[in-house]
Amino acid sequence: MAEDRFPIVLLGGGHAHVEVVRRLGILGLGAQITLVSPSRYAPYSGMLPGHIAGEYAFDDFHIDLVTLCARFGITFLETSATGIEPVHRRVLLASGKDLGYRILSIDIGSTPSLPEGMVTGISVKPIASFTDRLARLDALATTGNFSTLAVVGQGVAGVEVAFALRRRFAARDIRIALVGRAAEPVPERSRRARHLLEREMKRAGIAHHPTFDVVAFHDAELIARDGRRLAADEIVWATSSGASSFLRESGLLLDEKGFIRVDQTLRSLSHTDIFAAGDVASLPDPRPKAGVFAVRQGPVLAENIRRSLVQESLKPYRPQHGWLVLISLADGRAIADKWDFAVLGRWVARWKGRIDSRFMQRYR
Ligand SMILES: Cc1cc2nc3c(=O)[nH]c(=O)nc-3n(C[C@H](O)[C@H](O)[C@H](O)COP(=O)(O)OP(=O)(O)OC[C@H]3O[C@@H](n4cnc5c(N)ncnc54)[C@H](O)[C@@H]3O)c2cc1C
Repeated sequence: MAEDRFPIVLLGGGHAHVEVVRRLGILGLGAQITLVSPSRYAPYSGMLPGHIAGEYAFDDFHIDLVTLCARFGITFLETSATGIEPVHRRVLLASGKDLGYRILSIDIGSTPSLPEGMVTGISVKPIASFTDRLARLDALATTGNFSTLAVVGQGVAGVEVAFALRRRFAARDIRIALVGRAAEPVPERSRRARHLLEREMKRAGIAHHPTFDVVAFHDAELIARDGRRLAADEIVWATSSGASSFLRESGLLLDEKGFIRVDQTLRSLSHTDIFAAGDVASLPDPRPKAGVFAVRQGPVLAENIRRSLVQESLKPYRPQHGWLVLISLADGRAIADKWDFAVLGRWVARWKGRIDSRFMQRYR
């Protein structure tokens, strides 16, 4: 059964859409907009490691979408999309209803990408429900025979999670291991950042297991493709991202990993009434899946939704070539890495704290 038709449907309360809500809301378009997201609380990923480390409470790093939408007269539906039928301009919802649109914008993030057939372990993604899984990890940590926790994934997220877990379980005798198929941590960042991280991991007692391509985990052992084994009581997955499976049946043009192919204006290459931003969008000039890009896309996305309503020409989104990455070591210090330069210090952590709280403040 079809619900009332809403002209603008925003799927996902991601980093780009919160800005779209704010900007289109300020323009007075709220009554035309419906935001759909499975939870009323949208996490800000930059502060998740701080939450794991015990620095931030749940409310500190979650945007309350119900309150944000209410401020601008936007309808919020707490459910998820299970399908899109572009031919009928309709989104299918887990609630069993469907929703018509004139313009659809998709910012649903990415899903964990695990080795084939892997069903065990605790995944960092989706971040929105990670706090529940963190409680499970806490419960495991209190059992007497829990000694090693392995974080799989050597990107910025994996490294930050490893440091944060180190801090969380500092009082318990739990070893933290960082595992991944690359030869060094954060292989995509500068040599200096990699060097600093390797040194700091040693100092913090985090064991690094490079070139360890995980293919299985059973009987408290991680198994690598080359046959090596590593004892671990539990694993936390912080591996690279995959796309939501329902997109495959949508008829939208996708890239080889299943992300929505968009042009420079963030508009779908196959459907002119559909936009995508954040991790789910596959740009003509690709960038890593990072919140910093989703955040920067928000204003352009909002502007292009507005322009397409009045049939004006759209604005291009130009992703930055060098971007700042701030890596928290969860001990009051952080590493700043940009271009080929990296620094480590307490002032970096304070700077990161200011950037993060400024972001959150905008949506309170
Ligand atoms: C531990 C960790 C730390 C990170 N730190 C950083 C960092 O410091 N800097 C950085 O740039 N990046 C960081 N990242 C990467 C960052 O999390 C992602 O790139 C970013 O969240 C992507 O934003 P997004 O808007 O695409 O989606 P998200 O922020 O993931 O939001 C997607 C939204 O869509 C909703 N949704 C999902 N499926 C559906 C559906 N079917 N229907 C409706 N709604 C749906 C979700 O509930 C969520 O609200 C980190 C990632 C992790 C795991």
